[in-house]
Amino acid sequence: MPSMPSIRQRLTTLRTVVLCSLLLIIGSGCEPQPSVQQQQFLALGTLIDLSLYGADKQQTEEAVKKISVRMEQIHHDWHAWQAGKLSQLNQQLQAGQTVELSDEQRALIASGIQLAAQSEQRFNPAAGKLIGLWGFHSDERPADPPPSEQAIKNFLQHAPSMAQLTLTGNTLSSSNPQLQLDVGGYAKGYAVDEAIRILREMGIDNAIVNAGGDLRAIGDKHGQAWRIGIRHPRKPGVIASIEVSGDESVFTSGDYERYFEYHGQRYHHIIDPQRGHPARGVSSVTIIHTDATTADAAATALFIAGVHDWPRIAKQMQIDHAMLIDESGIIHMTPKMQARVHFEDGLPHEVNVSP
Ligand code: ADP
Ligand code: MG
Repeated sequence: MPSMPSIRQRLTTLRTVVLCSLLLIIGSGCEPQPSVQQQQFLALGTLIDLSLYGADKQQTEEAVKKISVRMEQIHHDWHAWQAGKLSQLNQQLQAGQTVELSDEQRALIASGIQLAAQSEQRFNPAAGKLIGLWGFHSDERPADPPPSEQAIKNFLQHAPSMAQLTLTGNTLSSSNPQLQLDVGGYAKGYAVDEAIRILREMGIDNAIVNAGGDLRAIGDKHGQAWRIGIRHPRKPGVIASIEVSGDESVFTSGDYERYFEYHGQRYHHIIDPQRGHPARGVSSVTIIHTDATTADAAATALFIAGVHDWPRIAKQMQIDHAMLIDESGIIHMTPKMQARVHFEDGLPHEVNVSP
């Protein structure tokens, strides 16, 4: 799990507060809605905002308790660099052992293998060593220079990918000792899916689980869809809004979420495993999809796929709602996304709709 570091935590919290207030401003209209229970708590190193409709105070408190316990567990079990279940698994794989997985480990790794294959390994949770090389396996913002070209070349020569894992039943082995799992690209999505599962088990069918601006919404609010703000990647405030109801997740990956600067150059945390460097050309990608795990992975994958390859990768990942904002501010969308997006900043936008 991406232990979201303290500095990042502060940034994310700030971002969430902004997004949550935008969400409220956009979503609540003018009339107060007395049956909306909203609670915020810290988990996964970010601010979790829970909005429940039709639940009473007691149920809401119970939901907060159950979800925070579950998220705490996910955070610990999937942490990318602190000692825990994942670091132990990585050590065993690197030692060439065949490892017996828990059902949860098998399920999340199996979906990682599938999502990576669909993305042609752009989404590559096996690239933990590369993410570590760039300094993102740390609670603090990396202060060091970027890794040497030689270190990156070494990584690229070994080219760890999810295709080098063999998963048979609950046993896992790796044919590449350089393979190191880092599930930071989809663990938040998984945690949000788990939160929704818990809510449904409790009989709560109308809710939003918002984790640092990425969310899954089920049901609706008194028959009304919610309007979700999508953050402008280069300015404070929202660029667009989307109406969400039924069962949909909205996840965004942006180059502004976690980065460091060295000699005036910005290096962000979404790394292109084929080049070994932070992915170029894109500012943010927003995905709408039913399950949050897939939406989270796809946002990362399409960010790396970039302006030319994203439509093919989206299709392979069975994503039909995607919006990519490139470095020059041009907006690229699938036709279904275009039908859902309302620009909120009052400015003209150059929009490319994919065929
Ligand atoms: P956020 O979690 O900030 O919303 P993302 O979902 O895009 O952002 O995930 C970024 C995280 O994913 C990084 O911090 C890193 O742990 C991991 N990551 C970076 N590059 C890749 C990649 N090519 N494939 C899979 N995971 C990646
Ligand atoms: Mg992601």
